[in-house]
Amino acid sequence: MLLSIQKIPEGHSVLSQSVPVIGEKAEWLVTAGDVSCIAEIDRLQSQIHIRLAYDCVVKAQCSRCLAPVICPVAGEFRIVLQEKSRVPARNALPEEDVDLIFSDADDTVDLAPLIFEEILVSLPMKPLCSESCRGIPAGSDPAVSVEYDKAVDPRWEALKKLQAKK
Ligand SMILES: [Zn+2]
Repeated sequence: MLLSIQKIPEGHSVLSQSVPVIGEKAEWLVTAGDVSCIAEIDRLQSQIHIRLAYDCVVKAQCSRCLAPVICPVAGEFRIVLQEKSRVPARNALPEEDVDLIFSDADDTVDLAPLIFEEILVSLPMKPLCSESCRGIPAGSDPAVSVEYDKAVDPRWEALKKLQAKK
């Protein structure tokens, strides 16, 4: 999510953007489509406070059977941006309260890495395709068990018998 610093008005404003998952975090975060983001922005001179709501669908993998799992993820969090100035502003926040520092020369600030981080943290540690998932039987990998299923499918047995009759 790109913020055009110069264009953010003093006071309250709202910005919505759909953010594609690209870059470094795309290795860990796979989504179906973009992340919808709505930023409620409050600018007070050199400070920008943002309440950011996100909504997306994450493609994960069942931690037991490795089947694909679709996780809808939505939430909101706050971001505080502080302009870096040579003269410390009177209302400057302590460093630990600031998420991002921008300078007057910046055109845009990218919030995407913060959003991806937040989504990753909110994902279930062990996603499951279903609560009753029994996982992969010991000693087999998923590719092998699929082959095995085909072999015992009764339709295949019927076909084999038909072929034998010919
Ligand atoms: Zn499963």
